[in-house]
Amino acid sequence: MSYQQHYMPRFEKDIKRYANLRDRIYKQVKRIYDAPYFNTEYLGHPPGALNLKGCRSAHVGMNFRILFVICEECRNEPECEYCFCEGLADQTVVFLTVGPHDKAYSMQ
Ligand SMILES: [Zn+2]
Repeated sequence: MSYQQHYMPRFEKDIKRYANLRDRIYKQVKRIYDAPYFNTEYLGHPPGALNLKGCRSAHVGMNFRILFVICEECRNEPECEYCFCEGLADQTVVFLTVGPHDKAYSMQ
């Protein structure tokens, strides 16, 4: 069963910004909401970087990353700073940002 999808404004802005990668991004987006735990990385809070606890990332090619949360998972992470799940079902993927690795991980 697919998860529901929810797109944050930042993610929609990023899609426009990287329009040349649009098809590849959407292909990976579909794969994520079909199976969000498969082949995705649970993020943490490395020293000197943003606290991304509760978030996950997935590759688009070598250097691009999609960052997202799964509501059922991030609801159980009290330190999650990117929980936009209020009013959404547990089986929802919230897409946060997409971009080159360093930009995505710093939410820029
Ligand atoms: Zn959440």
